[in-house]
Amino acid sequence: MTIVLTRMPLFTLRSRALLVWLAKVVYIDRMSISSRDLLAKTRKEIKEISVQDVQSRVQNNGVVLLDVREKEEWDEGHLPGATFLPRGFLEVRVEKAVPEKDKPVIVYCAGGTRSAYAAKTLQDLGYKDVVSMAGGYGEWKNAGLPFVVPEKLNKNRLARYSRHLKIPEIGEAGQLKLLASKVLLVGAGGLGSPAGVYLAASGVGTLGLIDSDTVDESNLQRQILHWTSSIGVPKVDSARRTLFEVNPDVKVKTYNLRLDASNVLDIFKDYDVIISGSDNFSTAYLVNDAAVLLKKPVLYGSIFRFDGQMSTFVPYEGPCFRCLYPEPAPADLAPSCDEAGVLGVLPGVVGLIQATEAVKLLLKIGEPLVGRLLVYDALAMTFKSFKTPRRKDCPTCGDNAKIDLNAIGPDACGPAA
Ligand SMILES: [Zn+2]
Repeated sequence: MTIVLTRMPLFTLRSRALLVWLAKVVYIDRMSISSRDLLAKTRKEIKEISVQDVQSRVQNNGVVLLDVREKEEWDEGHLPGATFLPRGFLEVRVEKAVPEKDKPVIVYCAGGTRSAYAAKTLQDLGYKDVVSMAGGYGEWKNAGLPFVVPEKLNKNRLARYSRHLKIPEIGEAGQLKLLASKVLLVGAGGLGSPAGVYLAASGVGTLGLIDSDTVDESNLQRQILHWTSSIGVPKVDSARRTLFEVNPDVKVKTYNLRLDASNVLDIFKDYDVIISGSDNFSTAYLVNDAAVLLKKPVLYGSIFRFDGQMSTFVPYEGPCFRCLYPEPAPADLAPSCDEAGVLGVLPGVVGLIQATEAVKLLLKIGEPLVGRLLVYDALAMTFKSFKTPRRKDCPTCGDNAKIDLNAIGPDACGPAA
């Protein structure tokens, strides 16, 4: 193409260039007139409010503040509490981001143009109370109103967590949330192993590990946190070594102790969620009662031979462990912890469902396993879900509950890990 043009006589080139230039000018001029008209027309069809009005309206709960700018603009700063939804994805994602069409929505962009079009689109989609912020983020900042500059992932973290960043429900904000989260694993055994490894890999910023045992040869058939070279080493030390290799980004706090009434509240208070992998009823009750006292969610799992059970206990939103098991299993029906057999791969499935539930709770996504007991049969390869209501007479979360951590009796081995 270039060769053909350079061989043309000069005057033809000049007149061609002139024609192209003229065509562009006329085209751009026509475009700018029509886009001006379109904007004026759109502005008449929507409602715009001042930045001061926006500030007083966002102080009322229940107002959705949508930022429809691009990622780079959002990263440089945005309104506190705003939801990021770039204009290009508005139609596709808004119904997920704002499912209730009666909710008041305030839209803003950099200067008020993109948000005017976005407000019109939202009205067309059936949103009943939509306004656009006149003057946009620029005007907001000029007026001296508060804004936040989001924390960002550094280059290494962008690479490590890139597969999370590609998921809209997680993204950079979700990854930052995970990195700021703290998960406590009660037991660095069968269930704590897969949960710990995957949570570390996922970039949960702080993992706490409680275990007073040392690594035994019989653990290695399923407890993947521990290696043959770790036999005889305290489990928390062996686990910390593995987790550091998986992801040095993760802070691992270890508690080489037995959980009891004197230490449980002090340890639990620092964590967002607790993964329970205890192998006896007394620890399961202690974990449950302390978690209900502190209103911390517990991701419950237990394993026996080929069967697993999982549930998510969010205090006062669903049942707790005692709603399901008010009394420990009689000692003659419960095998002792040392004798309980378990298929080596079984805790992988159960521990990872606990870890999945933990990540969902931390990110506030999806439907948690609250009020449901999931029962896994590895031989039949079935998952069955049973509804588990909260009990009014539950001794821990019922109407007349009285929690006394010191009253929790000695072990009768039951749900095993
Ligand atoms: Zn309960």
